[in-house]
Amino acid sequence: MLKESTNLPDILIVDDDSSVVIALNKVLNKIGRIRFASDAKQAFIMVNECKPDLILLDVELPDILGLEVCSILKNDEATQHIPILFITSNIEDDFEEKVFNVGAADYIVKPLKPRVVAARVKTHLDYHRAITLLEKLATTDSMTGLANRRTFDEQLDLELKRCRREHTPLTVVLIDIDEFKKYNDYFGHIEGDECIKTIASAIENCSRRPGDLAARYGGEEFAFILPHTDPEGAKILLNGLLKTVMNLKIKHSPEAQYDSVTVSIGFSTIVPQAQSTSTTLPTSTNSTSDTYHLNVVSSADSALYESKRNGRNRVSYSPYKPTSV
Ligand code: GH3
Ligand code: MG
Ligand code: MG
Ligand code: MG
Repeated sequence: MLKESTNLPDILIVDDDSSVVIALNKVLNKIGRIRFASDAKQAFIMVNECKPDLILLDVELPDILGLEVCSILKNDEATQHIPILFITSNIEDDFEEKVFNVGAADYIVKPLKPRVVAARVKTHLDYHRAITLLEKLATTDSMTGLANRRTFDEQLDLELKRCRREHTPLTVVLIDIDEFKKYNDYFGHIEGDECIKTIASAIENCSRRPGDLAARYGGEEFAFILPHTDPEGAKILLNGLLKTVMNLKIKHSPEAQYDSVTVSIGFSTIVPQAQSTSTTLPTSTNSTSDTYHLNVVSSADSALYESKRNGRNRVSYSPYKPTSV
């Protein structure tokens, strides 16, 4: 991912020919922060360490062919987004095809022309920056910075598959701000937005594991995906969230049941049954996976309804019902 706009992008040059490295450094050191590697082994280490925004890669490296290095980076989820530009002096007939087949963004032919190199690198950095921004806009809720509904749906499908494969529990949580209409009516929509943002950040801070996903599910509703989390673990976490929200002491409308803003929470957990062809887990087709997706969300929704019905500001659990849809 591209670094903050105040920072220069990181450019990694991988070439065993020091004259090429010196020439490239001269051309590019105003565009980015330049790092070097003289072989593939060193390149992989540096890619992991500095997460470059662009790589210039020599076709002929002493240890592994540049094409193979590119292919490895493009097949790794962590590095596949990094644009790679090849540097070559030798264009055989099928070279272009090979370069684009392994996923490179472009290639630059030696002898290097400084202005052409700078222009191509800038173009790809701009392009990469724009894609990164678009991805962020497409996956994030702009008001709260949490994942949006689309990301939630996609992530839930992935986690359902993982849950089936690895036979580990998966908890889905729905969280709804209590009597929020009264809050809006009393304080106005702008204050209402501020309240949603404050609650969103409390929800985000309550997720602890890297695999947890907090999302804005709709207006004043949020959702959590908690992989590898059983009902007992989820209950502890979610009761903690209830307390955290109450401790924010956001003054509620005088019409509301509680003095401060509270949330109601409902959750459901898919618990795979050990060594069985359990009916609680999705099978391999997408449509079945979608059904399980709907099932687990609707079970969490029933639990949320239960929390509302029983007086709000509480956590309820609804057992996962595989046949409810
Ligand atoms: P309950 O405790 O049953 O959830 O009551 P409620 O008033 O929260 O439920 P209801 O669904 O009737 O109202 C939700 C309100 O949330 C209505 C809507 O205007 C408000 N809301 C939804 N999205 C936003 C938003 O982005 N900003 C603001 N300020 N208000 C929002
Ligand atoms: Mg070389
Ligand atoms: Mg609601
Ligand atoms: Mg509500």
